[in-house]
Amino acid sequence: MAGPEIKASALREYPTVPTIQPDATADLKCWVANEKIQEPLGFPGKLSDNWQETHDRVIGRMGELLDKYRSLKVFMDACVHCGSCTDKCHYFIGSGDPKNMPVARQDLMRSVYRRYFTPAGKMFPGLVGARDLTPEVLDEWYSYYWQCSECRRCSVFCPYGIDTAEVTMAGRELLNAAGYGQKYSNEIIGKVHRVGNNLGLPGPALIDTLTGLEEDVKEDTGIDVRYPVDEKGAEVLLVTPSADFFAEPHIESTIGYGKVFHAAGISWTFSSMASEAGNFGMFIGNYEQLHKIAMRVRQAALELGVKRIVVGECGHAWRVAYAFWNTLTGIGAGANDPFAIELQKQLDPRYKQPTHICELTWDLIQQGRLKFDKSANDHRIVTFHDSCNVARGSRMGDYAGGQFDIPRNIVKAVANKFHDMAEETIGERTFCCGGGGGVLTDELLDIRVKGALPRMEALQRVVDDHGVNFMATICAICKAQFSKVLPYYGFKSGMVGGVHQLVSTAIQLGNEQ
Ligand code: SF4
Ligand code: SF4
Repeated sequence: MAGPEIKASALREYPTVPTIQPDATADLKCWVANEKIQEPLGFPGKLSDNWQETHDRVIGRMGELLDKYRSLKVFMDACVHCGSCTDKCHYFIGSGDPKNMPVARQDLMRSVYRRYFTPAGKMFPGLVGARDLTPEVLDEWYSYYWQCSECRRCSVFCPYGIDTAEVTMAGRELLNAAGYGQKYSNEIIGKVHRVGNNLGLPGPALIDTLTGLEEDVKEDTGIDVRYPVDEKGAEVLLVTPSADFFAEPHIESTIGYGKVFHAAGISWTFSSMASEAGNFGMFIGNYEQLHKIAMRVRQAALELGVKRIVVGECGHAWRVAYAFWNTLTGIGAGANDPFAIELQKQLDPRYKQPTHICELTWDLIQQGRLKFDKSANDHRIVTFHDSCNVARGSRMGDYAGGQFDIPRNIVKAVANKFHDMAEETIGERTFCCGGGGGVLTDELLDIRVKGALPRMEALQRVVDDHGVNFMATICAICKAQFSKVLPYYGFKSGMVGGVHQLVSTAIQLGNEQ
């Protein structure tokens, strides 16, 4: 593991455009998936020894993607190289590698698109920046499409709304079509299919873990708070990232979810079949995997007979649930196969389907159904990190911007001391933690540390100005990434935690009506 040699950049008081360092991270590559990982997902096991075969496979698949996703074709054609996005990517800011500029990341694919799919590129490739697909180009794609966290920050600044994350997703789909998949994401997807969650935690182990959690909470509070699994007839199915079941600080939020349901008198359950909210199908840009993983939630909801589906603290899971579950599974409305229609009849129309756990908790707070002792959090001076997929890929509540207000409203309802980070680094313009989108793997720690730089600089300012000692967030990947990289910048690993961790600390139990 590369950890000890990795050096973080010095934090700057006034962020500036970095010095250009060509190819600084060109050799930074994540591990490649082997045949045992690739083939069960329906991808070629490895790169063919015959380059022409790989070439034809990739160009053929590219043509299919351009036909299927009109947005991809528009993104390939629309860029005017205005430069607005160039300094907006945290990986460029942290590494100085010009190929980590969003426009350059797009151009890695655009140049090949032009060569094979535009008349000018076919006739005069040199004049229009078109290039052949070669083994070297494919290697370059592998480096730089796995140095993008699909955070979509660059798209906020693009006058044409070009979404580099979608280009990255297409790049990864093409790499998988070539048999050049990423071990980390594809291995995790395999575990979801085989065992039910990203961590490969089987049902009995999950039940054991949650029974132990009930005992811990009883010892701590004297109250019988339940963390049930597979309880038919429960009102709510809670789907949360599997890290919430045992990793620190994630489990502190799980404790909080249970306390909220207990205090509000809402019956709820986890599902051993859908014990994972995360959906890495989105990270690899593969519709079939996205769909297959999402369908586990629908099946669990139908079998358990629940009335509501609630999603825990996971950024990309909430984006998938909010933006895609309707057409993928019929949760909400959209899909109209018999099972989707059955589910739509089963779910309670008085509630948003799906609901984010923060929406549920905030509703209960507004109804006066939860009581808090805010002073229990007085040892914490809190800031809030907006996670990319929540900020730029979803909403909460019933108005634009609800996804920024609702988690902050909860924090302010349960803690006395709160300070936001600099305006240009939060909300819609939030900086990625540096580990999202399938980048959270140890062999990419160098780029993860580099990519965290802008967030660390903003954090340093609120630490200096207000003494902030706790950064709350509602994403499992952000929690895992920050726990790892905070020490590289001189912060304590334990200063990151969930919003429901703060809820858990302050909530008053034992006086339920
Ligand atoms: S990591 Fe984010 S900002 Fe950088 S290119 Fe990818 S989507 Fe854009
Ligand atoms: S901001 Fe948009 S149009 Fe301008 S260079 Fe970036 S992707 Fe191209």
